[in-house]
Amino acid sequence: MKVTFPHLGSLSIVLTGLLQDFGLEVIPPPPITKKTIDLGVLHAPEFACLPLKINLGNFIEALELGADTIVMGGGTGPCRFGYYAQVQREILQDLGFNFQMIVLEPPQGQVSKLVDKLKILCGNKRPGEILQAAITAWYKIKALDKLQGEVLKCRAFELEKGATSKAYEAGLSFLQAARTPAQVKTGLKKGLELLAGVKQKINKDALRVGLIGEVYMLLEPFANLQVEKLLGEMGVVVERSVYLSSWITEHLILSSLRLPGGLATKKAAAKYIKQFVGGHGRESVGDMVRFARRGFDGVIHILPFTCTPEIVAQSILPIVSRQEGIPYLSVSLDEQSGEAGFITRLEAFLDLLKQRRHKTQNQAFKLATARR
Ligand code: SF4
Repeated sequence: MKVTFPHLGSLSIVLTGLLQDFGLEVIPPPPITKKTIDLGVLHAPEFACLPLKINLGNFIEALELGADTIVMGGGTGPCRFGYYAQVQREILQDLGFNFQMIVLEPPQGQVSKLVDKLKILCGNKRPGEILQAAITAWYKIKALDKLQGEVLKCRAFELEKGATSKAYEAGLSFLQAARTPAQVKTGLKKGLELLAGVKQKINKDALRVGLIGEVYMLLEPFANLQVEKLLGEMGVVVERSVYLSSWITEHLILSSLRLPGGLATKKAAAKYIKQFVGGHGRESVGDMVRFARRGFDGVIHILPFTCTPEIVAQSILPIVSRQEGIPYLSVSLDEQSGEAGFITRLEAFLDLLKQRRHKTQNQAFKLATARR
């Protein structure tokens, strides 16, 4: 069995190690490029959302390299992710590829179905070996999230442009090489030490911006036009609302136990939206409320063009912005989106945030002086 999977940020580092530990030959898709997107766009329905097109391009490139098994995630609820895998399977079969697709869906209490599918991947491995591989993968996910969180804080203050990204790449390679939880811990420590060694400048005026939106778009830098890197290099401290570990905890672990997740976000959203609308729509609203209440300067909402759950969220964000007093920028991206136009929009938004902050500081100063 030669296994492949779709790209999702740094997930390929985790999945490659995990599937190799299961004794499988792994053929990761080549890194996402314009060619990947062109392939997806050529063969996907025109109004399919961008993640479907990118994943389809990933699969075509991996199948052309010899993969014969695709591991794909599945979804539930009022969102197109629920039939992504089926659509992609039919398109790939029409193109003449010979493969099997294993679709792993949130168990929602029916864990046995998920276990049956995992058994195909685990082959003859003993339960102890499978557990060991799964624990190592979980440590890697947590380590990657920790590393990425630190990168977002560090980049805004780097003295030399690109130094943080360089340290991050080295950190990723340590984690990629790790095959046991102990090695993951050592790899993370080395990565964090490299980040701590990045020379920093003092910037007391650094803006703080929260990123909200559709999960794939937040986790895959190629899809979001490297928004975190762009903002960081503009001196902005960025905080992302979702990480791979939090998504897995909510949608795989808690869902398996039929337990609700993301309670703080749902509670924050409840004033504006109570219903689950598919995908991450309700969470986007709740995350914006939480960023506002933590005193962030602004929020950037990223969604794929035609994404229904995020369009619902988008219609509510103006009310949240007014009532919670936080500016936001909503950016809908697709295969036509270009970096130059995106940077211009980011710069204009940051100018607005800076002016707003100075105005607030001036008002506070005048108030303090009047009281003396
Ligand atoms: S959340 Fe949006 S982009 Fe993601 S699969 Fe659903 S409809 Fe597509």
